[in-house]
Amino acid sequence: MTQPSGSWSPDIIDAIRRTREQVASLHSELTKYGLVIWTGGNISGRVPGADLFVIKPSGVSYDELTPDNQILCDLDGNVVPGTSGSDKSPSSDTAAHAYVYRNMPEVGGVVHTHSTYATAWAARGEAVPCVITAMADEFGGEIPVGPFAIIGDDSIGRGVVATLSGHRSRAVLMQNHGVFTIGKDARDAVKAAVMAEDVARTVHISRQLGAPIPIPEESIDALFDRYQNVYGQPSAAAVSERKDS
Ligand SMILES: [Zn+2]
Repeated sequence: MTQPSGSWSPDIIDAIRRTREQVASLHSELTKYGLVIWTGGNISGRVPGADLFVIKPSGVSYDELTPDNQILCDLDGNVVPGTSGSDKSPSSDTAAHAYVYRNMPEVGGVVHTHSTYATAWAARGEAVPCVITAMADEFGGEIPVGPFAIIGDDSIGRGVVATLSGHRSRAVLMQNHGVFTIGKDARDAVKAAVMAEDVARTVHISRQLGAPIPIPEESIDALFDRYQNVYGQPSAAAVSERKDS
């Protein structure tokens, strides 16, 4: 399904270069926020306009990651031969990332970590309930649990897609394993991974003190809608729409 690398247009070559730079530099966010240890965890980003994605190499230290040692794969998870980094193995989670890209065309980035608090919820197979407004904003409800699945085939990817398809949450706690997040691009998926760990930690601590108070469903809906559509800097289109109304 992949065009031979020699026939890529200048636009695709440029998009691959930008995706390599983005994916390599975003990995520093995982260490900055304490979401990973040793060489665990991985980020990938879809190459806009091509059936390709860029992912972290397997077993390389975080401080040695560069745009050139990220690995370019097709959507079946095969390394594109002859490209930069192709002498190394891609992340051991590459099949899961590829499955997500094949089955969720709206997804532009995928992140996987074993971040401590979120994985503690995953180990108990319990969804993080929506009891703080930041969760309603970011995830629109609970962070759900996905099935127990073992690395080696498509079963992790299938579990991620089955759980997150049609769900507001961009994060899933894969039972007994860790967190997978998706986003419109790699940065968005990293943000979801950071926020998932933060809310898992806060709700865990709240639980130690007593029973957290649930947020009513209609308030979750209103918070999610506002945060997703209004919060932050308005886009040019939104500004002109508001002027019109
Ligand atoms: Zn894992």
